[in-house]
Amino acid sequence: MARYHIETYGCTSNRGESRQIESALRDAGHYPVDGPEAADVAIMNTCTVVEKTERNMLRRAKELEAETADLIITGCMALAQGEEFRDEEIDAQILHWDDVPAAVTNGECPTPGPGTEPVLDGVVGILPIARGCLSNCSYCITKFATGRVDSPSVEENVEKARALVHAGANELRITGQDTGVYGWDDGERELPELLDRICTEIDGEFRVRLGMANPGGIHGIRDELADVFARHDELYNFIHLPVQSGSDTVLEEMRRQHRVEKFTEIVETFDETLDYWTLSTDFIVGFPTETAEDHAQSIALFREVRPEKVNVTRFSKRPGTDAAELKGLGGTVKKERSKEMSELKHEIVAEAYESMVGETREVMAVREGTGDSMKCRDDAYRQIIVQNASERGIEPGMTFEVDVTSHQTVYAFGDPI
Ligand code: SF4
Repeated sequence: MARYHIETYGCTSNRGESRQIESALRDAGHYPVDGPEAADVAIMNTCTVVEKTERNMLRRAKELEAETADLIITGCMALAQGEEFRDEEIDAQILHWDDVPAAVTNGECPTPGPGTEPVLDGVVGILPIARGCLSNCSYCITKFATGRVDSPSVEENVEKARALVHAGANELRITGQDTGVYGWDDGERELPELLDRICTEIDGEFRVRLGMANPGGIHGIRDELADVFARHDELYNFIHLPVQSGSDTVLEEMRRQHRVEKFTEIVETFDETLDYWTLSTDFIVGFPTETAEDHAQSIALFREVRPEKVNVTRFSKRPGTDAAELKGLGGTVKKERSKEMSELKHEIVAEAYESMVGETREVMAVREGTGDSMKCRDDAYRQIIVQNASERGIEPGMTFEVDVTSHQTVYAFGDPI
């Protein structure tokens, strides 16, 4: 039995991995302690999205090495760039997520707990439905860490979802590197069936948010998927489809599995099926081969589809990827293009929130915000903040109606009715 300390960096998917590790550790009889100094083993679940993150990861790993008896480093940076930790002579085991519980157990017999602990964070349940993807994007380092898609069965995921809801999850977040290709490793396109079954077979008050799905995987199931969204109130009308560029030439260089037309066809299908929904997408700005014309096409696509949520990333080279071998654009060009796109993002996203002012929305309280505020989500997963939450008796998990009174760029304010 060991005392452990775990730190997690990066995305929702990574937090889900940490919770799975914790669940296995607790089942094996290990228990968490406050801080690395009190632990027999510290686990650092790393992220590797931008260079600055990498520097922070290395710095933190050195601190943990000094503060704890034994250090395990896992996660995307550990798996894709484990040598960086070795080069710094950090004394740690560098392991895949799946191998962490066994390494902590270190040959001892596990002490089984009362069952698999649900993956819960407040009223949010994080449900990784699969790991890995089927793509080979030329700029991506994550695929080195995660590999090909590996999908547990629909039954297994429905049971995990049920456990989360029964443990108190009011919001299920379905995650994965690419949820759109769920089941493809078994030759089936199973995402619509999984969502349908979670919504129909599980009793309780809960909402479901579908995580990132690449357009290449979604395109072939778009009608079926939009139909599932239309039939189930449990599903937030929200879809995250990272397009990355409005230029087919750049998409080809990126080795993305879609072209612009596929992306816009998915958007059209959802527009035709749902009255009120949120399109979330990502753009990479300044890919090495991106010309001024390519950039203009991205801007044009942005204006055409008017996403309500957007991540704009300035291209940076990731070691070991094919895109890192290409001659890059100058920093000034990247900066200017990214500034133009970020300004457009503010304009378009703010417009979406402004259009909500004066309307009534049903929301679910999800998390406490700063001060005495509560972060809530409406049917399309738009964020609505309610102030003076405790005075109003609002707690996470509650559902109620609000009048939308005002907005900031990426969220609105609401008064409970
Ligand atoms: S879809 Fe592309 S960017 Fe995403 S994990 Fe797979 S290879 Fe990487």
